[in-house]
Amino acid sequence: MSTSITFWGAAGQVTGSCHLLEWNGHGVLLDCGMFQGKRDESAALNAKLSFDPRQLDAVILSHAHIDHSGRLPLLAANQYNKAIFATSATRDLCASMLPDSAHIQESDFKWLQKKGRAGPSSAPLYTVADAVKAVELMESHPYERPFAVAGDLTVTYRDAGHILGSANVEVQIAGTKPHRVVFSGDIGRWGQPIIRDPSGPRGAIDTLIIESTYALKNHDTSTHATDHLAEIVNRVAARQGIILMPSFALGRTQELIYALHELADANRIPQIPIYVDSPLAVEATAVFRLHPELFDDTEALIQTDSKLFDYHLVTYVRDVNESKQLNSLNGPAIIIAASGMAENGRITHHLANHVEDSRNCILLVGFQGQGTLGRRIQDGQKDVRILGEPHHIAAEVATIDGYSAHAGRDELRRWVKELGGPIQRAFCVHGEPESLLAMQKILQEEGVKDVQVPKHGETFAIGS
Ligand SMILES: [Zn+2]
Ligand SMILES: [Zn+2]
Repeated sequence: MSTSITFWGAAGQVTGSCHLLEWNGHGVLLDCGMFQGKRDESAALNAKLSFDPRQLDAVILSHAHIDHSGRLPLLAANQYNKAIFATSATRDLCASMLPDSAHIQESDFKWLQKKGRAGPSSAPLYTVADAVKAVELMESHPYERPFAVAGDLTVTYRDAGHILGSANVEVQIAGTKPHRVVFSGDIGRWGQPIIRDPSGPRGAIDTLIIESTYALKNHDTSTHATDHLAEIVNRVAARQGIILMPSFALGRTQELIYALHELADANRIPQIPIYVDSPLAVEATAVFRLHPELFDDTEALIQTDSKLFDYHLVTYVRDVNESKQLNSLNGPAIIIAASGMAENGRITHHLANHVEDSRNCILLVGFQGQGTLGRRIQDGQKDVRILGEPHHIAAEVATIDGYSAHAGRDELRRWVKELGGPIQRAFCVHGEPESLLAMQKILQEEGVKDVQVPKHGETFAIGS
């Protein structure tokens, strides 16, 4: 029996998660994510499928984030017509996120065409119809229940505690020489609001593929983050200001709604209006409402409030005209809008309208990538261009560090320890080069002798 694994994404970098597992003439793909970052480099990686999708038996998806799911429509566009396995919440999130991804690509391309800057590398990867086709191929399975995938391979999803529906993928290949592969997907954190704590697989593992995003760094706790949030809301509300929060539509936005709900209920912040101005965030919140079975029922707010997201202070804005009405909004108020790094989306319009008023506050609650508007604002730049126009930032700029859906260094180690082991061999993926080396070191310290950091496109024989 020959079994091998080839790393076609998130190898030597964070994004583009995609690993091909082959055995006895079968092949399954673990994730099929989008490469993000430098436009030209990512475009080249995204456009190229290094394997024949028609030869695959199945795709096993870990979670809905675009860097894990974003190229599934490209498979569908290239005659892939077998099952894409996912948890039910992941499927429901993808039903909004994949068509949205196609739509963003199409409108970005139109905008570049209008500016005369469109090249072959900026063409959309797929259409909305391809995205819908990918969702149609999705077959959902709950956590903890093994299901047959292809040949003698079965999979069990375990709760990764990262975002709603996120899973660690446990793969069991039967036969004369059984082989057990664990793919971590993205690993979450203990004590995150709403969703449950990570509860990974247990016992001996032949091959571990593990994410390394924050292997170098610990995060602040989410309790500190909430205290910090209360302090900022009180300060800005007292001067009648508006708080502008660029936020990822999935996960972070719901976490903020939850934290503000909790704080207002406890009278730790004043009762001020909160606007969630992002059609995708509104849809993602609807998926949260559909999956209360995934909530962490040890949390007080979840035990006492069944209408977690339908809070009287929160207004969900879908319609573009309603969004425009927020231009003349008077404080105190909070606006939460995508995108998370203020690169595009409705937050850019709100920033353009409100940054020149010193009563207001730009509150950054997520990672701000290099070269993004969010990062320039965070770094203290006062004169910035927003939607092509110059603006002077008079508003306060604040950052809260404790909101992260990813395990930090100590949490990654805890997750590895709780596996129990022994682990025969491990591959570190989904990290910047330094983080990958840090993860390699953690695994070695935990007694794993053979720890690899694979390169893009590298193949390893396993289980022989
Ligand atoms: Zn993720
Ligand atoms: Zn990821």
